[in-house]
Amino acid sequence: MKCYICAQEGRDSDAVAACIACGMGVCMTHVRREEVELVEGGYPFPSRKLSKTLPRMLCPPCLEAYRSQ
Ligand SMILES: [Zn+2]
Ligand SMILES: [Zn+2]
Repeated sequence: MKCYICAQEGRDSDAVAACIACGMGVCMTHVRREEVELVEGGYPFPSRKLSKTLPRMLCPPCLEAYRSQ
């Protein structure tokens, strides 16, 4: 998988992660790691609050959308 953002900019970088929201591939430069606290049940855990946050991989546009909620 290639980095989608790099591809848009005409570069050819291997993706190191996939955005959990939109699924696009992102390289080390473009991946954004966000600690997301799980409050409701949902993938991949049952419905209870976890004491720890989960690191989640997001692409820059999805992180922006997440933060602007
Ligand atoms: Zn990239
Ligand atoms: Zn995304």
